[in-house]
Amino acid sequence: MQPLPTFDLILFGGTGDLAMRKLLPALYRRRAAGYLSPKSRVLGVARSELSREDYLAMVQSSCQAHLGKDYDEQRWAEFSQHVDYLKVDASSPEDFAGLKRKLEGCEEHTRAFFLSTAPDLFAPICEGLATHSLATPSSRVVLEKPLGHDRASSAQINERVGRIFTEQQIFRIDHYLGKETVQNLLALRFGNTLFEPLWRRGRVKHVQITVAEELGVERRAGFYDETGALRDMVQNHLLQLLCIIAMEPPATSDPDAMRDEKLKVLRALRPLRGRDVLHKTVRGQYKAGASGGKPVVGYLEEKDVPENSRTETFVALRVDIDSWRWVGVPFYLRTGKRLQEKLSEIVVTFEDVPLSIYERPDTSQALNRLVIQLQPDESIELTVLAKFPGEVMRLRPVNLSLDFSETFKAPRLDAYERLLTDVLKGNLTLFMRRDELDAAWQWIDPIREAWEQSDEAPKAYTAGSWGPAAASALLGRDGFAWHNEL
Ligand code: NAP
Repeated sequence: MQPLPTFDLILFGGTGDLAMRKLLPALYRRRAAGYLSPKSRVLGVARSELSREDYLAMVQSSCQAHLGKDYDEQRWAEFSQHVDYLKVDASSPEDFAGLKRKLEGCEEHTRAFFLSTAPDLFAPICEGLATHSLATPSSRVVLEKPLGHDRASSAQINERVGRIFTEQQIFRIDHYLGKETVQNLLALRFGNTLFEPLWRRGRVKHVQITVAEELGVERRAGFYDETGALRDMVQNHLLQLLCIIAMEPPATSDPDAMRDEKLKVLRALRPLRGRDVLHKTVRGQYKAGASGGKPVVGYLEEKDVPENSRTETFVALRVDIDSWRWVGVPFYLRTGKRLQEKLSEIVVTFEDVPLSIYERPDTSQALNRLVIQLQPDESIELTVLAKFPGEVMRLRPVNLSLDFSETFKAPRLDAYERLLTDVLKGNLTLFMRRDELDAAWQWIDPIREAWEQSDEAPKAYTAGSWGPAAASALLGRDGFAWHNEL
């Protein structure tokens, strides 16, 4: 990999959870791997009055906690040379003037503003940067999700940010796209001829995408209660994964070629409205149960959650794509908190043989299946039928497995490490374009509205289960089952 250009990374929300848990440890790793040039700087900014020493102490303890065995005192000493802190309140012109002074003399550095704050600060921060001539034509801005809470608010933020930064300067993060396995999915689809003839209606029976979390809402209950699983996970991560599965091969690896194809998928999603929403979606909310062998409270008992909250902590949906390639092939999406295990996987199930001449296991197990696991392990597995040893011809499913950590011993980048690298190199391929985001919200909003108008409350499910029974029935009605239920 090429070394990064000398940069100034200004980390708004530099004291926040995301910066401490993910962004700063990712930058530490980049430094440890030798990619930070000596003059590159990471400037944490937030409202708190902190000295550089106070801030370094925070970052160090966070790096120790989150880097595990990758943490090393010598490497920390090297990384800490790059890190500084400045108090900047997004509403204070004097603070922006202070930021300008801090960055003076380094205009030739690649300048990136990473906005790891609540989305209602994105536009005010960009406007503050513009007023103080900090948003130069070569600088970049990185926006964390969620970008707004519906189509209108997202459009408004994009409009205001777009007055200051061009689309080529805006990096909208969906960290799922930074995962190695997601990029491997692109490699699998567009680097091989094997799957392409099978990747369509008539060959694929159905597709499942699951992003399951074992954790509950933890310390983010206030944020989560305003957001819910549909906005927090489906609108971005699950729809982006669906796009990667369903998109046509782009003509080149150019960022816009890729993003054009994803956009076509989003625009081909069959709208879910009114009664359709009630038939094709299931929302749930966890009640008390167990997680990791320990009793846990229900969502309504979590701190900072209103006792009558109807926020969904689980969603399952049937999605149809009205394109020649996919019409008639159901895509089932599912995500939730306090589920049985932490698991992100995509399962592509192929059609059965037209005529069976050997003794086979029952139908669901007999199908060829491609399982792409993103979490906890990164692997790809293809289920085929093989002859069970013995005198009779009996077929049993076996897996052809590719475990990435076993196959490639080379060090792997975590998603934020990869995405920060792309920001600093100016590569937009793995970031969402404004029209993609708009198309995703356009599809999501009517679902939310139909739920709000319905008298039905989210269905309760026990913490530690796989969600409400209705989620199984959603597939059961079509004659299918979730992968974990086979
Ligand atoms: P957080 O812990 O609440 O941190 C918010 C940060 O913003 C703090 O550093 C806070 O510091 C700063 N801040 C608040 N008001 C400010 C103001 N007026 N001017 C300047 N700085 C201000 O939030 P987070 O969990 O890190 O999340 C940050 C963003 O990333 C959010 O949009 C979130 O949805 C998104 N995100 C988070 C995660 C995650 O795992 N945490 C995952 C995906 C996306 P002061 O109070 O000192 O100002």
